Amino acid sequence: MTIMSKTLRQQPGQEKPSIYERAIMTWGENLQLELIVEECAELIRAIQKYKRKLATGGLYLEAREDMAEEVADVSLMIEQMKLMRLNDAAHPFKDDINRWMEYKLARLEERLEIAKREKESGEKK
Ligand SMILES: [Mg+2]
Repeated sequence: MTIMSKTLRQQPGQEKPSIYERAIMTWGENLQLELIVEECAELIRAIQKYKRKLATGGLYLEAREDMAEEVADVSLMIEQMKLMRLNDAAHPFKDDINRWMEYKLARLEERLEIAKREKESGEKK
């Protein structure tokens, strides 16, 4: 039994595991990581196809729908990644993700401020 399945095993009085938890318990973290790679690749292809259709004046609605499907797939897999332990029982992977989210969001906010100032100074010239 892996650390993950022990961690996610339902305790008496605990809520039923979520669908995400059940997916990890059923197939394991390593197999789900393989699936994440596949789903990310499918999303990349779907975005490229959508952009190509737009650029060439093609029928983009089907490509848009495909892209939505792949975003859903990747989102489901990301939710599972947030529940993984990834060989560190004492240190949930979600903690690392949250730390990076905070840092990246603050950085994005700074970049938006810089872009806003640059736009304003450009408009004054
Ligand atoms: Mg897919």
